[in-house]
Amino acid sequence: MSKDTCSWHPETALVHGGTSRSQWGETSEALFLTQGFVYNSAEQAEARFLNQDPGFQYSRFSNPTVSMFEERMALLEGAPVARATATGMAAVTAAILSQVSAGDHVVAAKALFGSCRYIVEDLCPRFGIACTLVDGRDLAAWKAAVRPNTKAFFLESPTNPTLEVVDIAAVADIAHNAGARLVVDNVFATPMLQKPLKLGADVVVYSATKHIDGQGRCLGGVVLCDQEFLDKHLQVFIRQTGPSLSPFNAWVLLKGLETLPIRVERQTASAGKIATFLEGHSAIARVNYPGSPNHPQADICARQMLGGSTMVAFEVKGGKEAAFKALNRLGIIKISNNLGDAKSLVTHPSTTTHHRLTEEARLELGITQGILRLSVGLEHADDLIADLAEALG
Ligand SMILES: *Cc1c(COP(=O)(O)O)cnc(C)c1O
Repeated sequence: MSKDTCSWHPETALVHGGTSRSQWGETSEALFLTQGFVYNSAEQAEARFLNQDPGFQYSRFSNPTVSMFEERMALLEGAPVARATATGMAAVTAAILSQVSAGDHVVAAKALFGSCRYIVEDLCPRFGIACTLVDGRDLAAWKAAVRPNTKAFFLESPTNPTLEVVDIAAVADIAHNAGARLVVDNVFATPMLQKPLKLGADVVVYSATKHIDGQGRCLGGVVLCDQEFLDKHLQVFIRQTGPSLSPFNAWVLLKGLETLPIRVERQTASAGKIATFLEGHSAIARVNYPGSPNHPQADICARQMLGGSTMVAFEVKGGKEAAFKALNRLGIIKISNNLGDAKSLVTHPSTTTHHRLTEEARLELGITQGILRLSVGLEHADDLIADLAEALG
């Protein structure tokens, strides 16, 4: 086996990367379900707190199973370092709040996961951090929003729930010209299909709850960044505020990573077939799939994504009533606000994930009452298409 882990393909890195075996030589990653660690001597304890002796102190700071997950994620992403968190929202909150102070300014795209939008729109201003929301597709709007005190840009691409895309490389340039960092929430693309750090992003966040677990079991999150951001901002924030990932969940996520490439490949292939089916269906007003040539920003998708994603957004003709009717007639595809699961899941965003927004704010984002967001699972594509055909009548 090659020891040069950086030259490994993702499939290899996701099976072997970051593995650290105990004295027993176990095959599968060990689960260190421990809060703390004991020291051989008072001198060793002292050295460890002075960062002079490598090793663990307390699982809020770090833990061997959590470290394996972090190293495997960093290898996959091509990131210098990674820090795991208890949830995706803990990752987003840490990535943003660790780097700003009262008097700073953040620019974010409007089309965000509901809780991400809460962080920048509601929480930041309460602590004196101003926030401007822009249409992420409009590069002139990003430029115009910059102020002398702008510290961070934040975006999601493809966006939740309508799967519009933002030109990550172009926004990264605008951020860097303004002396700000770009933070990208890469959940919808998955680490398999989009590499924001290669496109110029400074920090990448994931809800590991989604495709990384991929089997609907546990919550988790991860922040990927360079050593300087970790040392200056993130490490102390996570260590002192405590949004740490449970070693048990880290172990589940490690096992999830082993199968991530084949799951995302299959789910993306099925999503493509489903998008084509929906594009040709008379009950559907519009389909947004980043892998389709009909996507409004197909050129940007082709430039920055390696595949079309495992998600499909589509609008049922006839508004909420027609959308609810279709949802209630589905058999295999389950109604849920979650995504990235082995089970296909469908959401009506305007009454669930985005109910907090006003109707006006929703329409501005293209979230009409007929919009459904489908997360394609590992079932056979033909069974999913038959289920949709039946539901759409
Ligand atoms: C789910 C999700 C989150 C939040 O993740 P949790 O693990 O539920 O906290 C953040 N961003 C996006 C895009 C998501 O889909």
